Amino acid sequence: QAKNAGGSTYAFFTPELRVAAERHQDIRMRLADALEQGRIEVKYQPIINLASGKIGRCEALVRWTDPELGVVRPDEFIEIAEHSGLIQQLGYQVVKQALSDIYQINSALREPIGVAINRSPQEFMDLSETGDYLDELAMKAGVAPELVTIELTESLMMKDPKLAERQLNLLKADGFRLSLDDFGTGYSSLAYLKHFPFDVLKVDRSFVSDIASDKDDYLLVKTILEMGSNLGMHSVAEGVETAEQLALVTELGCECVQGYFFSPPISRDELLNYIGTQFPELMA
Ligand code: C2E
Ligand code: MG
Ligand code: MG
Ligand code: MG
Repeated sequence: QAKNAGGSTYAFFTPELRVAAERHQDIRMRLADALEQGRIEVKYQPIINLASGKIGRCEALVRWTDPELGVVRPDEFIEIAEHSGLIQQLGYQVVKQALSDIYQINSALREPIGVAINRSPQEFMDLSETGDYLDELAMKAGVAPELVTIELTESLMMKDPKLAERQLNLLKADGFRLSLDDFGTGYSSLAYLKHFPFDVLKVDRSFVSDIASDKDDYLLVKTILEMGSNLGMHSVAEGVETAEQLALVTELGCECVQGYFFSPPISRDELLNYIGTQFPELMA
């Protein structure tokens, strides 16, 4: 931490802090450029419905490769975007791209698949008219709101529950689906589950990854899924990497699964290819 020395304004940085601060600064500046130049990409990870055995939707995940920094992971740059006012622009570009891509994908299919889009808490709260803005973009893109799921994390509800509730209800009223992402990693999960209008509960990857080896994680996933089902929510297990994990979440009654076992996040064209080879019956 930077400290004030005896009331003076000198701050002492360790070399590590200096490096971190410079990295932060680099990312902020280069991300602003990338957004300006439209160099942000979006990939899609299939979400498989276990009852039908087919892809039901996909999750849109932002990707950014900078000429100098190389691949920067969303976990790193999303947070920086949130703290530097770039998140609105980033979110807007992701939504536009994802809607246009899902429209194109669905043009090639017999029955449309849905798309799940992540929104960060800051982004979500800052927009006073989130519902209208998404509504308008979806309409322009020719995508029915019912096909669009918005993924949010519990931290959203922490800051300003009243505003969060209002925003969520706006989206619901427009017909969008709401998904509670990374469930189990935040706070006061039970109260939020009951109070807020979420349709889908996503079991966090950290529980799924040890489900086969750790009895506690197995029981946690079981409890989360039972609770979600009792509240009438749909469920998705994220981060399914092995056949064993798939068998266990299936046995526990999970509805949908997503993870490297099926596919990593891939480009729009790769996803069309994936559907064509894995589920040819879905192609028009
Ligand atoms: P998330 O929404 O929980 O997304 C799931 C993350 O798990 C993705 O990481 C995905 O690539 C990864 N994943 C999926 N299956 C597996 C698996 O089987 N094994 C492992 N090890 N990982 C798997 P990614 O793309 O790096 O994104 C990280 C986080 O960044 C996301 O977590 C989400 O919170 C945020 N994010 C990504 N795209 C966006 C975006 O467009 N907007 C906002 N606001 N946040 C985003
Ligand atoms: Mg997500
Ligand atoms: Mg998640
Ligand atoms: Mg996450």
